Amino acid sequence: MIIEPRTRGFICTTAHPVGCAENVKTQIKYIQSKGQIEGPKKVLVIGSSTGFGLASRITSAFSSNAATIGVFFEKPPSEGRTASAGWYNTAAFEIEAHKKGLYAKSINGDAFSNEIKEKTLQLIKEDLGKIDLVIYSLASPVRTHPTTGIRHKSTLKPIGKSYTNKTVDFHTGEVKEVTIEPSVGEDIENTVTVMGGEDWQMWVNALQEADLLSENFKTVAYSYIGPKLTEAVYRKGTIGRAKDDLEKTAFSITDSLKNVNGNAYVSVNKALVTQSSSAIPVIPLYISLLYKVMKAEGLQEGCIEQIQRLFNTRLYLDEIPTDTKGRIRIDDWEMQANVQEQVAELWQQASTETLPVIGDLEGYTTEFFNLFGFKVEGVDYTKEVDEMVAIPGLRE
Ligand code: NAD
Repeated sequence: MIIEPRTRGFICTTAHPVGCAENVKTQIKYIQSKGQIEGPKKVLVIGSSTGFGLASRITSAFSSNAATIGVFFEKPPSEGRTASAGWYNTAAFEIEAHKKGLYAKSINGDAFSNEIKEKTLQLIKEDLGKIDLVIYSLASPVRTHPTTGIRHKSTLKPIGKSYTNKTVDFHTGEVKEVTIEPSVGEDIENTVTVMGGEDWQMWVNALQEADLLSENFKTVAYSYIGPKLTEAVYRKGTIGRAKDDLEKTAFSITDSLKNVNGNAYVSVNKALVTQSSSAIPVIPLYISLLYKVMKAEGLQEGCIEQIQRLFNTRLYLDEIPTDTKGRIRIDDWEMQANVQEQVAELWQQASTETLPVIGDLEGYTTEFFNLFGFKVEGVDYTKEVDEMVAIPGLRE
């Protein structure tokens, strides 16, 4: 079929298999250009099909020949209907990994459920024995709690009072004010239940109880801080509470890993266009200004550049550098004073008329479409493609 992008708000309901495969190959090439490291050998990536999780899986496999198991929640294709982008990304990743003789298998389902945890444990037992790294990179709007059966919804709301600021509709380029109403009822608790640390802890506990963690085991989850500009809706909002909880959980996981001399870390990453971040009001405008400044300063990175830097210059050093709260920081370039000062100044000037010049709206939109395999250089979108792509190592 001929596949075109079909967008609804901040989601795209179609994905292009060839474009997704090209994106994955570009990320692999980047990692290969950086050479090999003494990195992980047997890796589980939870949330491995897009964004930071996909970059983590690629980096593990192609910078230190790691065997990888990926867990994700993606839509398979059906005749005449495309799969979701993460499905095509995973198929392309596995094909490239297998070509190199690397072990790569995948599990598609709800990572919050006991069933998917058990399935994953079983696969590790059968094929890998013990693992030395778990990357926890889930971004989800909902979680059905495995013990209570209650379905919790996370929210992206300020706490205490409503918040008004500029935002951009990146499809039309219109800059306008939005007001986001504050959290009510159990919004905070629900967001913490979905995006906080409980599920990460449950995964590590389950792996440990099954004796599947090797000596010096590491686990990393991803967080975000960001500037004052986005604080009310992000770090001091409901999602920020979940990130506080995730960061706190790193310490309790480390405490529970004494018998294998293990460590849990949170890595604070940079703001990037991913399926999750485009859903947060205000953030797309911030990112389009940030990209403009970071590109001009020669500091711009995507997911793969970020994770390459995480592995090469943080996680696999003898001494892992952290901030005063024990967090690994790869948002250091985003948070540099000269970058933030410029973004804050541009923010004042941002309007529908000025944004195409003072911001990188085009970069934002292109990256958004790239997430789904569209607008990828060198891909002929007028050509018929087979939507029925299989993931070779998918565990049914
Ligand atoms: P993403 O949307 O690109 O990826 C999310 C992944 O989680 C996908 O692989 C998806 O399949 C998987 N997933 C979602 N629900 C699932 C479920 N129930 N079961 C199994 N898999 C499921 O997101 P991302 O932006 O790469 O975010 C990953 C992490 O990085 C999040 O914790 C996010 O807060 C953090 N982070 C993101 C940014 C950013 O700007 N995008 C910045 C810093 C930190």
